Amino acid sequence: MKITVADNSGVCFGVRRAFSLLEEAVTNAKRNGIKVVMLGPLIHNPRVIKQYEENGVSVTDIDSVPENSCIVIRSHGITKEERAKLDKFSGLTLVDTTCPYVQRIHQLVEKRSAEGFAVLIMGDREHSEVKGITSMISGDFFVIHPNEFDSKNDELSDFIKNHDKIFAVAQTTSRPANYEYLLKKARKITAEFQGHRFLAAETICTATLKRQDSAGELAKKVSSMVVIGGKISSNTAKLFQVVSEKNKNSFWVESPEDFSASDTEKLKNSESVGITAGASTPDEQIAEIKSFLESLNG
Ligand code: SF4
Repeated sequence: MKITVADNSGVCFGVRRAFSLLEEAVTNAKRNGIKVVMLGPLIHNPRVIKQYEENGVSVTDIDSVPENSCIVIRSHGITKEERAKLDKFSGLTLVDTTCPYVQRIHQLVEKRSAEGFAVLIMGDREHSEVKGITSMISGDFFVIHPNEFDSKNDELSDFIKNHDKIFAVAQTTSRPANYEYLLKKARKITAEFQGHRFLAAETICTATLKRQDSAGELAKKVSSMVVIGGKISSNTAKLFQVVSEKNKNSFWVESPEDFSASDTEKLKNSESVGITAGASTPDEQIAEIKSFLESLNG
């Protein structure tokens, strides 16, 4: 079995930065005798979060923040309201790991909504990144997920018709083809109304794009594909979607134990296996799966 790791797989710039800020926070907090607390899991990777918890870093929500502690804000960012709540606690040290690409969307929507634009967001309204983005908008907004393009078609049309200035953004982990489809549709509706303006920003993260392209290319060439990453990670879910469309023998795991006996059998019978990993998957997790696959070679 030939094993190939896709280019551009694993930890992205934003997550690497978040880990390094967290490590620095842990060192400083130990020196100052204070506790480090993540405000929600830093990344959507349960294994990594568990390792930090075993090292004394806890995870909490906004209503249970301990005073005089070091609070680490996750890479997906938090809402404006959550930030205001944090300001009320005394003695907190804030370490903000919000990815600069997410911060850029916050700034864009804040500015455009202050200028009177209604904001159209493509993404998952339940995702913390999207919640953070919508919290920065002072006017009207509409969130649509690609799975809702048909079911919410009328609501989307009404939103566009009812606003003469619209500004569009996409969640960083979105698929470009979906965003292009939405923008084309939205521009077509806007064109029916004289004087209506439609602006859109390119907000899809290049780390996500590169991962998806490299993984998609590799998936076409190998007998089986393994995608590594947290089951609650949005970018890993999209990576798996891209890969499984190109290769029917695709598996999504967090650790070797996730392979069933029949998965293992299929992998054993594969001439070649490709590996890719989500943006919150550390190098050690990739190495672990790779050595498991190598062990199947006998
Ligand atoms: S995937 Fe992109 S937006 Fe998300 S944390 Fe990584 S670099 Fe930032």
